[in-house]
Amino acid sequence: MASRTTSRGAAPVTLGELAAEGRRVWLWCERCARSRSIAATVLARRLPADLPVPLIGRRVRCRICGGREVHSRPHWPPGETVASHRWHDGGSGAEE
Ligand SMILES: [Zn+2]
Repeated sequence: MASRTTSRGAAPVTLGELAAEGRRVWLWCERCARSRSIAATVLARRLPADLPVPLIGRRVRCRICGGREVHSRPHWPPGETVASHRWHDGGSGAEE
């Protein structure tokens, strides 16, 4: 059995992974500041399963203002800790 060497938090979760777990994707429009969550299984019908969740926002449009400045991230249920996840890319010159 091949063990996964990727540590959780280093690689972004994919749409297919969220869909398999029955999770939702949180979408937020930068232009009109509207946000909504969509079931990952719904998005998976239109988008590739191996698409990293942070890139989903680039493939969709805001349904309210039609803007394309949409951010996306996994929508974890309340109570589930996300402390171990690092959403910032952080790899560029953050050291002092
Ligand atoms: Zn919008």
